[in-house]
Amino acid sequence: MSDAVLTIVVPCFNEEEILPETIKCLHGLLTGLIDEALVSDRSKILFVDDGSKDRTWEIIYKEGLRNHYVKGLKLARNVGHQNALIAGMQTAAERSDCIVSIDADLQDDIQVIREFIVKFHDGCEIVYGVRKGRETDTFFKRTTAQGFYKIMKSLGVDLVYNHADFRLMSQRAVKELARFKEVNLFLRGIVPLLGFRSDVVFYDRLERKAGKTKYPLKKMLAFAFDGITSFSVSPIRFVLVMGMISFLLSLAFGSYFLTLKFLGYTQTGWTSLITSIWLIGGLQLIAIGLIGEYIGKIYKETKQRPKFIIDIDTFNLPMPKRHLL
Ligand code: UDP
Ligand code: MG
Repeated sequence: MSDAVLTIVVPCFNEEEILPETIKCLHGLLTGLIDEALVSDRSKILFVDDGSKDRTWEIIYKEGLRNHYVKGLKLARNVGHQNALIAGMQTAAERSDCIVSIDADLQDDIQVIREFIVKFHDGCEIVYGVRKGRETDTFFKRTTAQGFYKIMKSLGVDLVYNHADFRLMSQRAVKELARFKEVNLFLRGIVPLLGFRSDVVFYDRLERKAGKTKYPLKKMLAFAFDGITSFSVSPIRFVLVMGMISFLLSLAFGSYFLTLKFLGYTQTGWTSLITSIWLIGGLQLIAIGLIGEYIGKIYKETKQRPKFIIDIDTFNLPMPKRHLL
């Protein structure tokens, strides 16, 4: 029997519809891995309730009472997928040799976790689950995702293509991750920065089995924008260059119009005036907005607020006997 302790961390936000099924599938998988002697029987599944408003915590808690493989971490309020994941991984880190993160919606093929563990035993500290294709995505999500990867790549950020937050990390890797203090932690960009030995496993991503996506368009765009601005100042530089170009252009136009004037051609001037006002005004607004975006980031980081606040932890502490659900 392998004595490697595995913890599977599952962030959940209003997932009551799918959660019983997820628990069943992951429990089946974990006991299988234990039977195959791939992981220790002290391994656990840690469900992180990210401030859900539905019965999510109740389901986790009740399952935890009768199933010792199931543990729960209840966050005091909703902090978003990334921070919920970090909360779960850090809680698990002390008492796990490796940690697998996976979404609650069963879109990622859980059987792949077996390959993660095999690679971990071979000495990999990080194993990325990579989607083979994006057939199950809508056309819109597919194209915007591709655009996002292209932008990140052109900015020199080393992302694993088509990898969402389905991955294995060793205890050491998770502990090193905790040393990245930024409040806005974009895991997909940070994890490759750790530089430990890593590998990828390919899998087919399925449709969400039940419940709705918690990433509507607005959140998705915010996520992508956060990803870009936390890794690169190139957008600011781009705006600067645009500003310089438009300045040079306006000089050129200005001298052209002046020459025309001196040669005796009279210009009504309205068209050129109004276009340049709009052009320059637009450029300035973009520039200010972008700088504001970065200043906003700095503002958030300087406050160093905690990424999450734990309400109840049944992973490191005993299960509360009487509990207000
Ligand atoms: N999630 C979370 N907090 C949030 C939003 C989402 O913990 O504020 C969880 C959610 O329960 C799921 C995972 O993050 O387990 C990914 O969310 P979802 O499947 O809705 O995203 P999508 O796959 O559609 O991008
Ligand atoms: Mg999903």
